[in-house]
Parts: sequence; C-alpha cells; structure tokens
Amino acid sequence: MDKYEILKKYFGYETFRGAQEQLIDSILAGRDTLGIMPTGAGKSLCYQIPALLFEGITLVVSPLISLMKDQVGSLNAAGIHAAYLNSSLTPGQYRKALEFARQGRYPIIYVAPERLMTPEFLDFAGSVKIAMVAVDEAHCISQWGQDFRPSYLRITEFVRGLPRRPVISAFTATATREVRDDILDMLELREPTVVTTGFDRSNLFFAVQTPKDRYGAVRKYLENHPGESGIIYCLTRKNVEEVCQNLIRDGFPVTRYHAGLSDEERRKNQEDFIYDRAPVMVATNAFGMGIDKSNVRFVLHLGMPKNLEAYYQEAGRAGRDGEPAECILYYSGQDVITNQFFIERGQEDAGLDPAMRQIIRERDEERLRKMTFYCFTNDCLRAYILRYFGEYGENYCGNCANCLTQFEETDVTEIARTLLECVAACRQRYGVNVILDTVHGANTAKIRNYRMDQSPCYGKLAKVPLYRLRQVMNQLQLLGYLAVTTDDYAIVRLTKDSAKVLTEGQRVVMKLAKEVQHEEKASSASKKRGRKGLPAGQSFGAGEESLFEKLRALRTEIAREEKVPPYIVFSDKTLTHMCIVKPKNRTEMLSVSGVGEFKYEKYGERFLACVREALDAGG
Ligand code: ADP
Ligand code: ZN
Repeated sequence: MDKYEILKKYFGYETFRGAQEQLIDSILAGRDTLGIMPTGAGKSLCYQIPALLFEGITLVVSPLISLMKDQVGSLNAAGIHAAYLNSSLTPGQYRKALEFARQGRYPIIYVAPERLMTPEFLDFAGSVKIAMVAVDEAHCISQWGQDFRPSYLRITEFVRGLPRRPVISAFTATATREVRDDILDMLELREPTVVTTGFDRSNLFFAVQTPKDRYGAVRKYLENHPGESGIIYCLTRKNVEEVCQNLIRDGFPVTRYHAGLSDEERRKNQEDFIYDRAPVMVATNAFGMGIDKSNVRFVLHLGMPKNLEAYYQEAGRAGRDGEPAECILYYSGQDVITNQFFIERGQEDAGLDPAMRQIIRERDEERLRKMTFYCFTNDCLRAYILRYFGEYGENYCGNCANCLTQFEETDVTEIARTLLECVAACRQRYGVNVILDTVHGANTAKIRNYRMDQSPCYGKLAKVPLYRLRQVMNQLQLLGYLAVTTDDYAIVRLTKDSAKVLTEGQRVVMKLAKEVQHEEKASSASKKRGRKGLPAGQSFGAGEESLFEKLRALRTEIAREEKVPPYIVFSDKTLTHMCIVKPKNRTEMLSVSGVGEFKYEKYGERFLACVREALDAGG
C-alpha cells in the first residue's frame, strides 16, 4: 500500500490537505521533520500515515492522557491497531500492553513523556525496532510557551539512548520564533524539514458583541442552535456556576468545568461533553487543553480573555473538522478590570525578582491592550488576529462580523465631554460604575452616599443607554483621554490629554455598529453563510436538514453501543457530505469524505439504510 491508499482505506479521504503531503514525504524520506500548523489542519495524519508505512514501531509522545485516549480511539475505530501507555493503566494492563507491543501488534504506540525513561519502558524500547519518535504538541518542550512540561526534556535523552536513531518528527500549533527554535534545539533535530503553514482558520466565523444582557444573548444563541455542540467560556468560576445553573434552569443540555471541581466531577463532565450527552460546556480557561472534539460548532466567550493567544487557542477549539463554526466574544468593559486583576494576582505567586516582574507585567498589559482593541476594531477581525501573529494578508475576509456588517461613524463628543466633566467634578475619586451611574442618573444608595446625586452631571445623560455610555468610556480610555488606575479600586482619572476634549474642542468620533444590526450581527451573518456546515452560498433543503438530523441520531445510537464519542464514529463533516451525496450503494458511500473501508464494514449498511429510509419518506 502507498500513502494514498492508506489515506483512502483507513481515513476515508481522497486527497491530502495543505502541507500534509510535504510533511509525510519528508518523514518517509527518513528526514527529521517539524510541522507547524494551526489546530484542525490535520497534524495527526502526518505521522500516522508514515507510521503505517514504516517497518517498525512509531512512538508518539503526547502530553495528555485524554488526548492519547482520543487518538487511539480514533485509530482503532478506523481499523488501525494502536495503544497508549500512561498512568491511567493499571500495572497489569501496562504489562499486557507492553507484551503485545513486543509482539509487534501495534504500529503506533502513544506514550506519556514521564514513561520514557522508566526501566521497564527502556527495556522494551531497546528490544524492538523503533522507526520514528513523533512528538505531538512539541511546544511543550519550550519554556517560552505557556504549556512548558519538564518531562518533555526527557525525550532527547531517551532518543540518545536508543540503539539506532529513529526519525524524529515534531508537531505544534504554536508559531512564535522562540518556540520553534527551542523545539529544533532541544529535540536535536538533524537537518530538519520545517514546514509552517498559515494560521488562518477560514472556516471560523468571528464576531464581537456588546449586548446589554450578556446572559440573554447567550441563551438566544443556544435557542438558535439547537442540538449543536459548543463551549461557553467564562472568566471566573463563579460565572461558570451562574451561567451553567441558569442554562440548566432554562432547559439547555449543559455541563460545567473549572479548577474548583473535584477530579471526579471534572472527568465526568468532560466525558458528558465529549460523548454529546451534554453537548454544551460552560467552563473557565482550565478547560480545553487536550480536547480533540471535532464537532464543536461554536465557542462563545462570555467575557474577554487576557490576550489574543488565549482567545485564538480557545476559539480555535471550534470547527476542528473544517466545517463552518462560530466564535463570538461577548464583551463588557468590566472584563478589562477583571483581567487587570488576574495580571496582578498572577504576579504575586510567580516568585520573580522585581525587574523581571516589571517586564512580565508590562508585557501582559500590552497583550491585554491588544486584546481589548480586538473588541473595538472596525477592521476585519480575522485580519486583526492574523496580524497579531505576524501574518499580513487580506484586510477583508468576508467571514467575520465586521466584514459582513456596516458600521457607522458616530460623533460621541457630547457624551465624552460629560463623562470627563463628571470625572473632574468628583475630583477623580471614583470608579467607572459610579461615574456611569451618576451621568445616567441612577438612584442607588451608593450614589446618594457619595453625594453624586448633587453633582452637576447627575442624570445629564439619562437618555443614553448605559451600554453606549460604557462604549464611550472605553473609547476614551483607548484614546488616552481617560485612565483607570490599576490598584485596588480601579479609579477613573483624567490624563494630560483630557483637556483637549474638555476645553479645546477636540471631537470624539467612534465607529459603532448600527443599533439593531449589532444584536443580530452573528445570526444574520450565519444565515448569509448557509447552515449546518455547508459552504457559503449553499444551504440545506428542508429534506436535507432532516436527513442530517436522522444521520446524527443514528450516529449517537452507534456511539452509545460502541461506547465511543460520536465524532469518532463519523465527523459532522462526513455526515454533511453524506447529505449532499445521498449514497445509494457501497461505492457511493465510499465516495463520502471520511468513510473508509473499515468504517464502511462496520457502519456503512446502517447509514445506507438511514439515507434510503429518509429518501423514501421525504421523496
Ligand atoms: P490537528 O491535530 O492539526 O488539530 P487533527 O489531526 O485532529 O488536527 O485533524 C483535524 C480533522 O481533520 C480530523 O477530523 C481529521 O480526520 C480531518 N482531516 C485530516 N486530514 C484530512 C484530509 N486530508 N482530508 C479531510 N479531512 C482531514
Ligand atoms: Zn473579516
């Protein structure tokens, strides 16, 4: 068999994507290889296919148990023998697996880095032929990255100790130069082929919204996307609890994840999500590393993350199957303050010297600023993100809220001036909320206590919606006409430029999305793009949509029988393709992307019957 036959037979795909073939050819030629590709690009195939063609065993080093389990599950489902060796196995299971491995049953073995240097494993490795060591999530070896794992440093030591040096391949989605150089150095790659592909994830739709009622917006989103799987990220554990509770109360199939839950509950909830028993996950950023679920159709951020690295990583968990998926950030001005707090708290336990601390803090604040600008930019959101990562390309993507909706220049000078006057009038003693409540004319105990109801600005902007006041407040901060202190109280202060607006006639203009559109931006945009994973311009006919539902139900049923996550049976993309092809026989079914021979033998007939039935019923 050659690489094309393997691709078709086991994975069910006709052609390689992007840089896959180049990487595979390099590995097959016996060269060390580093592949840097975005999430969802299909890195695993790049080492799995050579592994099946090499004589000998491929060891895949992977950082997380869940990741290994998932990969091995996928391979087994495709009819490929693979196993994993990590601490989730009992000593008995571990020994058994090693025994099978010695007999050459597994061309691919996933192993945790901690295991590599154990006597038992070394003994095994010395007694078989190891053709390749593939390092997954290779950025974990770099101290520059956010996911540094000291155990990754053992990989090199392990390789040095082998009787014959195998091919080393490494894969990551982290693009920075420091990380790349670290991987090349630390893994001691020899004259490697290095392939970096673009970071664009063209199937992801991006939007930023600032709804008055964030929870309401999320609920509405879920109402409009029934049955779809998604992740809702919140900034704090408390938010997770609240949002999760409310969504359960409102009847949505959600579960939750954050670091405050027991190991047991985290594991259970994560499984419920992966197996689509609870297709929507509400979580803090503790959730997601190692989650390989391919059919995540949306990632909503109820709150802005601390930087774009984090945002793109989290949002990037949507649409790994390459099908359209949505990434919506619901922003509120409070998010900046929350993150500022995280940055400061993060400093306390870092155990760094003051100079280093200062550097890191400045770096973090700069990143937070760039993240905040993302929420306000009128540029193409995708272009903004890619620029941040050093890619300069098109300024218009046609698949983000900014590209798809019109903004209008709005003169907000009057509002701006009143806000500044209010800050001046209270002698720069209060925080954002007090200022906003004052100009908005709120009648609260706090306002009365502070005597802000006596302020000349009290109620002056009562007619302007509060969210609009917030937007202008943010804009003033971004433009440097106001500053918010970052000590305990987050007090609003004037800056040296405030006077320009207050007295020198400087106008303040900002681009604001037209009122109505802003709320509906994402949903109207998704209508424009067609539904349920079809390319833009196409949409399901009524029959196809119900066929999709039927196929999905069958997939769930099979997944339950086999005790595997549904996307391991077939991806959303495969089901979508099935709806378009409407296969009537084996040959047609095999032409569906993602249907290989092995899977056909297992499930093909049942899906054919399902298609037939639906066609008979619906015409
Ligand atoms: P990564 O590890 O780069 O994030 P994966 O290896 O998990 O990505 O692959 C993402 C998805 O793309 C998987 O569902 C995989 O089956 C699919 N895929 C990979 N290669 C191809 C291909 N050549 N054609 C179609 N789909 C592919
Ligand atoms: Zn765009």
